[in-house]
Amino acid sequence: MVVIGAGQAGLSVSYYLQKLGLDAGNEFVVLDRGPGTGGAWQFRWDALRLGSAHRINDLPGLDALGLSFETADRTRPAKDVVADYYRQYEDHHQFHVVRPAVVTAVENAGAELAVTFSNGEYDQTVTSEVVVNATGTWGSPFIPWYPGLPSFTGAHVHTNNYVNAADYAGKSVVVVGGGTSAIGFLLELEAIAADLTWVSRRPVDFRDDGDLNLEARVEAVRMQDDAARAGRALPSIVSGTGVPRTRRIQAGIDRGVLTPRPMFASIEPDGVRWEDGTFQKADAIIWSTGFRPELRHLAPLKLREKEGGMQVANGIAFRDARIFFAGYGPQASTIGANRAGRMIARQVVATLSKLQAARNSRQLSTFRFVSDAAF
Ligand code: FAD
Repeated sequence: MVVIGAGQAGLSVSYYLQKLGLDAGNEFVVLDRGPGTGGAWQFRWDALRLGSAHRINDLPGLDALGLSFETADRTRPAKDVVADYYRQYEDHHQFHVVRPAVVTAVENAGAELAVTFSNGEYDQTVTSEVVVNATGTWGSPFIPWYPGLPSFTGAHVHTNNYVNAADYAGKSVVVVGGGTSAIGFLLELEAIAADLTWVSRRPVDFRDDGDLNLEARVEAVRMQDDAARAGRALPSIVSGTGVPRTRRIQAGIDRGVLTPRPMFASIEPDGVRWEDGTFQKADAIIWSTGFRPELRHLAPLKLREKEGGMQVANGIAFRDARIFFAGYGPQASTIGANRAGRMIARQVVATLSKLQAARNSRQLSTFRFVSDAAF
């Protein structure tokens, strides 16, 4: 069988598949776009530290390596720490992740699924009875449409291509979005940008309990689960959880850096304009406006509902029980991905066992490279 993606979700599924007796590299293969370890974390911006993210839950069994994100170095960039820990984890478990392997299509091939991927030089296809899709969201940045958007002559930057504050020295910057990424950028840019404007579509819901409260988290996960079960597009996570009013954030509010303006109405070549006619010059607009699940490669399977999303419950696609989703919707956090790993691995093994019983031949495993080309 094939797992697509080696982030927290794909690695967690792999861990439990191995625990349930499947042999990595032989009975299941993990394909990852890479280029390195760390899933989406390898691409996070330079200034992000583990302490400034919400919380990264340890991968299952990470303690066996003597590692924990709780005790990880908070002075190093989060992207380096996570990439390093994931690399050690992959090595320890000998997952033999294939990378770079960009999956471009998953298609029906009789009773099996054909997964086509590229290493940048040539394509290869592997067939499998079951596919676990754990591709996250990082590759699908979302920028909402505003009149005049393409006319902007400055830089449109999304969270996923923000690198560091130095790029904005002496510039006029507008940051869009009401979540922790937007706030992180504002605090980082405060001393560097010539001027800084924060806009948010909704009033920012600062939570007073210092961390995201449990009720809000449960509610956010429920909203995601409801949407996934109904096949609707997934709602924004921030709209459910709010933003924790940490001491650093409160200090930013007190200094006036973290006071959002309502959303602008349109974009002009050199700035943004509000409904009341007010104008703000901008050299860059940073869109911290979220992501959508990255699912383009599944298009040939026609899993999308007219409601705008995939119908998924407990990690299984309603339209095709051979396709599992790990890290999707209610599972889109490191703790959700861990839980998904266990649940999905069990279901995958049960499905494979059923298929094997039906065939009563060949061994449990179930992926086969169609072309002979070496990686
Ligand atoms: P990813 O880490 O994105 O892994 C998906 C993998 O699939 C990647 O390696 C990618 O290259 C690969 N892939 C994608 N498409 C293809 C393809 N077509 N072919 C082959 N491979 C492919 N969660 C927390 O719990 N705590 C936090 O502090 C936190 N902070 C966050 C901050 C930001 C800015 C964002 C955007 C998210 C944050 N999250 C946080 C959510 C976080 O991304 C998830 O918790 C978790 O890391 C996602 O794991 P994943 O495995 O689902 O996805």
